[in-house]
Amino acid sequence: MPADSLDQVVSLCKRRGFIFPGSEIYGGLASTWDYGPLGTELKNRVKREWWNAFVRGRADIVGLDSAILMNPKVWEASGHVTSFNDPLVDCKGCKERFRGDKLLEEKLGVEAAAILKLDQVKSMLDAEEVHCPNCGKRDWTEAKQFNLMFETRQGAVKDDTNRLFLRPETAQGIFVNFRNVVQTQRLRLPFGIGQIGKAFRNEITPGNFTFRTREFEQMEIEYFVEPKDAESAFEEWRKVVWEWYLDLGIAEKRLRVREHGEKELSHYSSKTVDIEYQFPWGWGELFGLANRGDFDLTQHEKFSGEDLKYTDPDDPGKKLIPHVIEPSFGCDRTVLTFLLNAYTEEELPNGEVRTVMKFDKRLAPVDVAVLPLSKKDTLIEKAKELHKSLLSETTLAVDFDITGSIGKRYRRQDEIGTPLCITIDFGTIGEDAKQGEQDTVTIRYRDSLEQDRVPLGKVREKIAEYWRS
Ligand code: ATP
Repeated sequence: MPADSLDQVVSLCKRRGFIFPGSEIYGGLASTWDYGPLGTELKNRVKREWWNAFVRGRADIVGLDSAILMNPKVWEASGHVTSFNDPLVDCKGCKERFRGDKLLEEKLGVEAAAILKLDQVKSMLDAEEVHCPNCGKRDWTEAKQFNLMFETRQGAVKDDTNRLFLRPETAQGIFVNFRNVVQTQRLRLPFGIGQIGKAFRNEITPGNFTFRTREFEQMEIEYFVEPKDAESAFEEWRKVVWEWYLDLGIAEKRLRVREHGEKELSHYSSKTVDIEYQFPWGWGELFGLANRGDFDLTQHEKFSGEDLKYTDPDDPGKKLIPHVIEPSFGCDRTVLTFLLNAYTEEELPNGEVRTVMKFDKRLAPVDVAVLPLSKKDTLIEKAKELHKSLLSETTLAVDFDITGSIGKRYRRQDEIGTPLCITIDFGTIGEDAKQGEQDTVTIRYRDSLEQDRVPLGKVREKIAEYWRS
């Protein structure tokens, strides 16, 4: 049984050290979350899989790590200063603020909400009898545009000349580096530039754990093509991304593709499809694929006065602004999806119910746990030897746990999704032949619960065999 409520996963994340509420000892800070030791490892693995699949593993894509703070003209050129707004309404009853379009979206569906103009939002909220989700009243203010960019200042002087924005997307860092990257890497169309990094949006209604936060991470690619190839590249990316999620174990029945209606499209996009996941509260965007055309490079040419055209290396007379297909992944939403997708409660043959995180083995934060059966010194010593050799001779993440009964430790490893547990018992140290031969250990497999008795000298081979399976 997968997670049917978000609370189950939120509580497991806190209990086991995946994700903690931000600034908790000071009473928290709304909608901020900190990744704990296991969450950090899980998130790093998600990023590693992404980077390997889409950057290192591809001859046509290179990586970038651009600054969060950028010249404010970037955001004028990109359209974010004028167009990156959400319609904000206040409830006059409790003073809570909401996104008017989201309130209507819940009532009418995405398409209907997207076609509304700002001055229609209040009258639609009234006509549709939308109540405040906080206090239940029905007394809305007129909607106003609310820009989602966080502002900050650079340097010691506080005036408008040093006003900056925290980037609301990583994409613009790629566009402003387009010429640098093309010239230094000798790229030929089609090619992509990928980057992983933080983005900030002053969301009016963050929530649903890490699904919508004000600080989050994106994994984005800008894929540059000749205009005639844009459509086929779009279709290709849609397939490749869908397959990436499936390959890492996301249940296909919980994924769907949703194309944006014309009125819903962002200011830069001529076509957008989202991949949505069926979250416990309903379908939500996990990934967005947009055809940005030549919008961004053209805008940056205009605002910077620099030539950002691509020159065909085989025909220097042929210059063009490439079109851009943008696969944009939310890193935190992807991590949340892997957590929800992995969460399983199942009944064991003895009638007990266990909670097990069935992560793909490439994502599980701990690869192998070494567990001495009891706290006896000789068992611990033998187990430590194995732990040390696995740490020094492999690149695996190896846990060592001596706290609590072996049953409790297996339960903990199941809850954090460790694929393999290795138990050192009295057989291993030659004190109880009934448990097994001397210098053999038990390997327990998370999903099948099968147990293999293996000579110590063959442990690494067995692990490698499991990884190949
Ligand atoms: P939404 O409609 O949910 O606000 P969006 O369409 O504005 O998302 P994009 O601008 O397409 O999002 O950003 C690309 C990806 O970044 C999204 O698919 C999502 O996974 C992630 N993302 C966007 N906003 C947030 C947020 N506030 N918190 C966490 N992830 C986010």
